[in-house]
Amino acid sequence: MPWFGMDIGGTLTKLIYFEPSDMMELEQQGEKETLKTIHRYLVGNIAYGNTGIRDTHLEMSNQQIGGKKGTLHFIRFPTSEMNAFINLAKSKNFSTLACAICATGGGAYKFEMEFKQRINLTLHKFDELDCLIKDRNFPLECYYWKDADSDKPNSSNKVPFDFHNPYPYLVVNIGSGVSILAVRGPFDYKRVWGSSLGGGTFLGLCCLLTGCTTFEEAIALAAEGDSHKVDKLVKDIYGGDYSRFNLKGATVASSFGQMNIEEKREQASKSDLARSTLVTITNNIGSIARMVATTEKIDKVVFVGNFLRVNTISMKLLAYAMEYWSDGALKALFLEHEGYFGAMGCIMEYVS
Ligand code: ADP
Repeated sequence: MPWFGMDIGGTLTKLIYFEPSDMMELEQQGEKETLKTIHRYLVGNIAYGNTGIRDTHLEMSNQQIGGKKGTLHFIRFPTSEMNAFINLAKSKNFSTLACAICATGGGAYKFEMEFKQRINLTLHKFDELDCLIKDRNFPLECYYWKDADSDKPNSSNKVPFDFHNPYPYLVVNIGSGVSILAVRGPFDYKRVWGSSLGGGTFLGLCCLLTGCTTFEEAIALAAEGDSHKVDKLVKDIYGGDYSRFNLKGATVASSFGQMNIEEKREQASKSDLARSTLVTITNNIGSIARMVATTEKIDKVVFVGNFLRVNTISMKLLAYAMEYWSDGALKALFLEHEGYFGAMGCIMEYVS
């Protein structure tokens, strides 16, 4: 079944469905009724069960995959809901297809037996990092944030970036955790760094500190908050800039550094705590990415992963930090389908 690519991550499962323009393709398959049912269900809905969502704004028509033309649909659901997904697949008679589906991510290993036993579906497994760099649509949708400034978060604009000659570049994948890959050619890459402080850390800490329950809620809270009420800044210590080493007064000297003082704790709102958590995690990833880029002598840094979904605060912060702290030597790049590159690469691995 070349129609699906699935990336079963630590937090989210990403499913890409390729809808062939020529539906005769489906008709020619043996189990055409089942395939049609699945097709109708997927493209006829934008929500599946309680937690599945189709990102309609990311849909891509007129795509050529494996010699066929069609539309790509992008679907996600929490990996913790895998049981419900398997039940759904069962109710749509997936088991009668007796076929394989391309899958990547840790969950392709973790859930392999369950898929086989419960819906007779074989997972055709691919390595998640191979998949991450496999996609060839990068040039179409790469952009950067122009004039990002940490003091004026609303000032910068999205500008397309020509990524036709990409090599070498760094991929910083911010999912539940963080992986950094140095990519020097189409088949030449290595994983150079990783960090456990990623999107999962942001969400986990935010839930603990603010009582929020979803990523969307955490980001909305952060958007309202002021991290300066939580963090200790250079100016809180120096009274202004630390000019000798070019450190602006507004630079964070200690994340959460005010929270040992009772009065400051009382003044900090849930939004302020959410914002500080977001800034702490983002800046930490930004400085690791900058150090790795410098060590690897690479100046283009592509940030991907669902941590960046609906999260312009972090994207602009990364854009600013990469540029400012490298004196303009490094460029932070972003991609429209930020969280779907593993799933996309999975389909591409299959058809290539
Ligand atoms: P993984 O493959 O590890 O699941 P993703 O690239 O899918 O990684 O990113 C997961 C991260 O994306 C979460 O830790 C969270 O920070 C963020 N995220 C974005 N949208 C959601 C969502 N709807 N539910 C949970 N986390 C989300």
